[in-house]
Amino acid sequence: MSIHNAPRQYLNWGTSLGLLLILGLAVELLLQQYGLRQQQAEQQRLLAHANEVRAVLLGELNATLHLATGLATYIPAKAGRIDPAELEPWLKGLFQQGRHIRNIGLAPGNRLTFIYPLAGNEAALGLYYPDTPKQWPVIERIIASAKPMLDGPLLLVQGGQGLIYRVPVFLPDQSYWGLISTVIDFDRLYAEVEAVARQRGLSISLLPLDGALPQQSAEAEAINLVVPVAGASWQLQARALEPLQPLPLGLRLLGWGLALTVSLLIGLALHSQQRRASLLLALNQSQRDFLQAFERAPQSMALVDNRGCLLVVNQAFCRLLQLHATQLVRQPLEHFCVPEERADLLQHLAAIRPGPNRSWTQHLLDAHQQRIAVECSAAILGPVADTDQARILHIQDIRERQRLQRLQNEFTASVSHELRTPLTAIAGALGLINGGALGEVPPAMAELLQIAQANSQRLQALISDLLDMEKLLAGQMRFELREQPLWPLLQDAVAHNQPYASQHQVTLQLQEPAAPLSVRVDAQRLSQVMANLLSNAAKFSPPGSQVTVSAEDLGDRVRIAVRDRGPGICEEFRPRIFSKFAQADGSDRRQKGGTGLGLAISKELVERMQGDIGFDTAAGNGTTFWFELPVSTSRQESSTL
Ligand code: ADP
Repeated sequence: MSIHNAPRQYLNWGTSLGLLLILGLAVELLLQQYGLRQQQAEQQRLLAHANEVRAVLLGELNATLHLATGLATYIPAKAGRIDPAELEPWLKGLFQQGRHIRNIGLAPGNRLTFIYPLAGNEAALGLYYPDTPKQWPVIERIIASAKPMLDGPLLLVQGGQGLIYRVPVFLPDQSYWGLISTVIDFDRLYAEVEAVARQRGLSISLLPLDGALPQQSAEAEAINLVVPVAGASWQLQARALEPLQPLPLGLRLLGWGLALTVSLLIGLALHSQQRRASLLLALNQSQRDFLQAFERAPQSMALVDNRGCLLVVNQAFCRLLQLHATQLVRQPLEHFCVPEERADLLQHLAAIRPGPNRSWTQHLLDAHQQRIAVECSAAILGPVADTDQARILHIQDIRERQRLQRLQNEFTASVSHELRTPLTAIAGALGLINGGALGEVPPAMAELLQIAQANSQRLQALISDLLDMEKLLAGQMRFELREQPLWPLLQDAVAHNQPYASQHQVTLQLQEPAAPLSVRVDAQRLSQVMANLLSNAAKFSPPGSQVTVSAEDLGDRVRIAVRDRGPGICEEFRPRIFSKFAQADGSDRRQKGGTGLGLAISKELVERMQGDIGFDTAAGNGTTFWFELPVSTSRQESSTL
């Protein structure tokens, strides 16, 4: 089984590993998606904030530039004449409104003749633009295009960086008048915009574009915006002050941990499912094996429920009753039993217990109503089909055995009958010879004749035992049951058997019961039982010991016990002791004599007198054989009154 399971197991764990990789990949994809989303959100935030910063920058610049544009309409209105006394308070007002204006200069005919405020800007006064090669090309372009333009940032003569907003002024007759230059403090403006950007978590840089396309930053997370203002274009580059946090390691670990757990759980589930499947398979296989063995067994077998209803029957059982399985299954077993034994069968079925059970004989009826003698043995099997405790019945056809037994008994009986008459004659003749009835026996013959007489007596005893047994088995032994006092019967038995016991140097001792006891027995059969038990006790007792005979009142029964101090009966022999021809040791026959029939006959006799026989023994501590007989009916009647 394990050989078949190994590739399956590899497959299961391979599946789990594959699943782990797929789940891990999914985790990585999800994390990537999550990271991208985060990045996109960050970009959106950056863009929104960069736009805000650009709006601030544009707002600041445009506000300032509009002031200068307003001034450009003043000069044509004055036909190009500049009256410093009139202009100064006005410029002062403009200067105070334009927060980033560093100075405003008027350059009629391209010469800077008026600067407000003059203080700090004296160096620039009188500057003639065509003489400044750095600025003049730009100024020329402004004049040519007649459009104001913002230039810079430039290093200012006065120091620092500035943006210069130059507005070309044309008189009403379209003749060129000169330039108005507004110098914006770039450093201050930039610092202010940068502060706004910092508040929004951005770092910015501002680059002039000079007509070029906005440069794409090398960094993906930087935002580039064009800032178009008055003929110039700048690029506002913004990036987050704090870089985007990489995805936390914990999240990745959690994802992989989950993937691992799920894969492991699925792997375990697959593993246990496969184990269950293979166990089921093995179970099915063993059930099939059992059913096959059951079905094909040469002995008849059947499963019955606790009410004796047949659940399953095997082929041998069907053959035995010559019926088809369908005619047997779900039928009570008693239907196939001879009517007079049905109650017995039900009793036997009800008495089945877990563990070893005794077998019993029964007569079944086959399809042709023929009686079949069977020996049944049973065991509790456990739950089968819908039944809690099914029983398995083993039914053995004993007709042949019984036939052979009968033949054997008949043979033994006829041989015994044939032997009895000549043996009686031989024993009688030997008795007469040894008794000296025919004259004195010559000493040379005496010993041999004694042995011959003893052996013929033993043969007579054997034949008498065999005939008794045969009579008992054939039910031909007559019993004359009579109520009688027990004490004289026991006294007789002891007296009759003492001579035999004395041969073994054993004394028989009778213990008188406390009160007189009566039993209902056949006196001759009781003395036969006593003779057997006493002779056995004497035979197996050590010389010089005592054999005790006692009687005990058990209420409705009387127990008669014969106790010896012999070697006891060994464990293995105990179950067979009441069987015919049973002897513990084959050498007993030679050493102690006997046929092995005595106890079998005693058991039959006691049972025919409605009694029980048994024994208690302990190795090395002697044996007590006992039998119990029903007390006399008058006693029973008086005790029930
Ligand atoms: P047997 O004629 O051989 O005595 P029994 O049927 O009376 O036949 O006894 C059968 C066997 O039981 C004996 O051979 C002996 O082994 C054993 N047995 C009987 N009684 C006793 C006893 N009191 N002590 C020990 N063993 C005994």
